[in-house]
Amino acid sequence: MIISAGQNIEGYKISEYKEIVFGFANSSEGAGYRQVALKKMTENASKLGANAIINFKMEIYPVSGSVQEATAYGNAVIADSIDGITRVESQTQPKINLEAYTRKPKTDDSPIGQIHDINGYKFVVCPKCNTKYKVETDEQGHVHIKGFDDVDDDEPGLQVFCLRCGTKFTVPER
Ligand SMILES: [Zn+2]
Repeated sequence: MIISAGQNIEGYKISEYKEIVFGFANSSEGAGYRQVALKKMTENASKLGANAIINFKMEIYPVSGSVQEATAYGNAVIADSIDGITRVESQTQPKINLEAYTRKPKTDDSPIGQIHDINGYKFVVCPKCNTKYKVETDEQGHVHIKGFDDVDDDEPGLQVFCLRCGTKFTVPER
């Protein structure tokens, strides 16, 4: 099985596109779980009669606690060698640096703004320059600041940029 992260394979032309194939494995299966996900993906491609996978990707997501799930996927295709020479298919695992596919630990958690109650209104205070922003809470208990969007989808809760100093901070829900 030829595996390429790109759209093409050098020396080959894609003669048939099969479908997107997946392979799942999680870290409770052991340290080699990325390799297991890759193997399952290639097995699914083989079942379709494919001999190659292009647009290969692997994503790692936390499932629960310290358990990570690896999803390997790509387009299963039939690739024919351009020069007509049939290459002997390697029996070894494809050389892909699976260690590169690791979710990076978060290191840049935003500072949290303090909430102040002033005359029955809630304000959040920028942790750097103390500028106050009026906070509204919806029925689900989520906080909003009028005219502000969440600027960081990776961090839980609402993150905003301070208009005055540009600091990104989290607006706590309490
Ligand atoms: Zn500020």
